[in-house]
Amino acid sequence: MADGTESESRKLLGRLREAMATDEAGQARLDRITHLIADSMGTEVCSIYLFRDAETLELCATEGLKPESVHQTRMRLGEGLVGRVAKSGKVVNTPDAPSAKGFRYMPETGEERFSSFLGIPVQRLGEKLGVLVVQSRVAREFSADEVYALEVVAMVLAEMAELGAFVGEGAALSPLHQKSAMFRGGTGQEGAAEGHVWLHEPRVVITNPIADDPHRELERLNEAIEELRVGVDRMLEMSQHGDKEQLQVLEAYRMFANSKGWMRRMEEDIARGLSAEAAVEKEQSQARARMEQVQDAYLRERLADLDDLSNRLLRILTGQGKQTGADLPADPILVARNIGPGDLLEYGRSLKGIVLEEGSVGSHAAIVARALAIPLVVHAERITTEALNGDHIMVDGDQGIVHLRPEDSVVTAFRDKIAMQADAQARYVSIRETPAVTLDGHRVNLVMNAGLMADLPSLESSGAEGVGLFRTELQFLVRNKMPKRSELVALYSRVLDAAKGKRVVFRTLDIGSDKVLPYMKPTDEPNPALGWRAIRVGLDKPGVMRMQLQALIRAAAGRPLTIMFPFVAQAEEYRAARAEVDKTVERERILGHKLPESLEIGAMLETPSLAFAPQKFFDEVGFLSIGGNDLKQFFFAADRENERVRRRYDTLNCSFLTFIENIVERCEQSGTQLSFCGEDAGRPIEAVCLAAMGIRTLSMRPASIGPVKSLLLRTNLEQLRQIITEGRHEGVQSVRPAVTEWFRQQG
Ligand code: PEP
Ligand code: MG
Repeated sequence: MADGTESESRKLLGRLREAMATDEAGQARLDRITHLIADSMGTEVCSIYLFRDAETLELCATEGLKPESVHQTRMRLGEGLVGRVAKSGKVVNTPDAPSAKGFRYMPETGEERFSSFLGIPVQRLGEKLGVLVVQSRVAREFSADEVYALEVVAMVLAEMAELGAFVGEGAALSPLHQKSAMFRGGTGQEGAAEGHVWLHEPRVVITNPIADDPHRELERLNEAIEELRVGVDRMLEMSQHGDKEQLQVLEAYRMFANSKGWMRRMEEDIARGLSAEAAVEKEQSQARARMEQVQDAYLRERLADLDDLSNRLLRILTGQGKQTGADLPADPILVARNIGPGDLLEYGRSLKGIVLEEGSVGSHAAIVARALAIPLVVHAERITTEALNGDHIMVDGDQGIVHLRPEDSVVTAFRDKIAMQADAQARYVSIRETPAVTLDGHRVNLVMNAGLMADLPSLESSGAEGVGLFRTELQFLVRNKMPKRSELVALYSRVLDAAKGKRVVFRTLDIGSDKVLPYMKPTDEPNPALGWRAIRVGLDKPGVMRMQLQALIRAAAGRPLTIMFPFVAQAEEYRAARAEVDKTVERERILGHKLPESLEIGAMLETPSLAFAPQKFFDEVGFLSIGGNDLKQFFFAADRENERVRRRYDTLNCSFLTFIENIVERCEQSGTQLSFCGEDAGRPIEAVCLAAMGIRTLSMRPASIGPVKSLLLRTNLEQLRQIITEGRHEGVQSVRPAVTEWFRQQG
């Protein structure tokens, strides 16, 4: 690149910095900037378009177009050449704008006189802010140098916008991150919460996008890159014995950290007058824009790696980081792209709510949020770009909706909702000790699902009559290495201590499918939900299962012990697992450990096949628990993790209820204890219908016990069963409408 061009660029940036330093109003500054750019680029026109809302761009300043069109000319995202630049995040450079694809003639601007057009997106880390355009009369394509120079300017404009340099009158000049915004995501954990944003990884703020001394900036960049490389090498060394996937990620990091192309681009940015951090951010913004376009999963991941690396580099350069020294605000609501279960546990119950841009209903973070009963919304796209630390925020976990900086009317309605929930909670506390007996005298046993130490206090506070499902894998998932047997013994005995004699059903490790242990060799399976998971792993590689069984027996230390095997698809699997228990008991006896006072061994019914097992199986199994989450996914062939189909089939679908009825009948014939421990057990309407079908033990999240009990106390199960039977005879698809109408009539 010619030195002359670089120094031109630096001169222009120097003048932009002067513009930034004045105490002019936003509009005057924008006017001055368009003038400066047109002058420096030698074009007749320079215009700046900014977003007035997510869908509309507004001409906010121009040199060369008719002044009266400022704040009058608007276009929708994707409309015209400017809209195209904004939508695609890509440069449009054409010598003949009127013939270019998507051109829209806007008579009020007088732009028909200008033939060539160069439009550059103004964006900051994936956040679209507007479009910078230069136009000129002569029909020519702008050179690569000119495009590059304008990209550097666009980057500085984005930083200036972020710092509030263009704030003025009108929506398009309203300060960034101050408008209220609503995000629609998915429900991770129900409940409503109001509080203030706490960004798990705060945005890095660049206060000096322009620098005078490129040599000094290059030095800073090189020093930071060196620190980054050393850091990545250290991580690589530490994980040489770790899993393959983690190593691959780190190798990719190292590749980027040593990438010549990346370095060269940043060096060029600096030569043009950007500071080291602005250069990093410019490349990061462009990589993010590319990420939006890329379909290929592998490439997307690599771009995400680069994004992560850029964040690290920015933190090194600016000294800003996770530990900013800021205190958690009052009523913190955590906002993050994603978060691991370990980090979330560290925050613990101090959080009032959680909003994730990624995440999924079955993710480990969601599991922890549920255990802590913290409202969680997942898939709230772009929230980390919009939210600032301390912003007022309301999280509606029931609907999967988040209100950021909400309007007064939303605040009032939302607070009403929270108050109603608080009233309901108070009602549930008042029936905590009341047994769940229906109006027609049926006693339903309400127990809770658990898996973390954080769950234990709920045993008292929820009124649960025991633990119907202790998901032992959660303890394995929240660690970064395999727990030792002695640790498990300590853990399980704490659980039994906390249960104070109430029955605890320990489910052996249910890993595989969506639950992948970070320290186990990943297996590449075409369809993990139907793959090598749960008891299949336990039987094929019995080492961990044996250790777990030993730990359970030692933790029981003479107390009663209940063990349940997950995902049993045929009787033989149960028998093989049972034989492992017998062997372990024998070994423990020989070793002189105290044996459990009583031992119940059961299986989870999660695949339809088990419901059709030979009668002998029903006679021999200690008890059965329907894992409705998995059972439903296999019954309807609808992936429980797939947002598209997850809710497609209703639990109150007549075919499913008939299937449940068959299981209940088979268990009644053989006198087999039966419970239900999927998520549906915690949904009041579904729960009472399951009870009406004959299931008398329901295991659910602790927070659901109050609502489920409250409805059971007001329900006549025989009458409800009648409603369900009538619906089935009529041949409806789901009995939900009839059941809801019946409850409505009951008041
Ligand atoms: C289920 O499948 O219903 C169940 C309780 O197990 P998990 O959700 O842990 O797979
Ligand atoms: Mg399951």
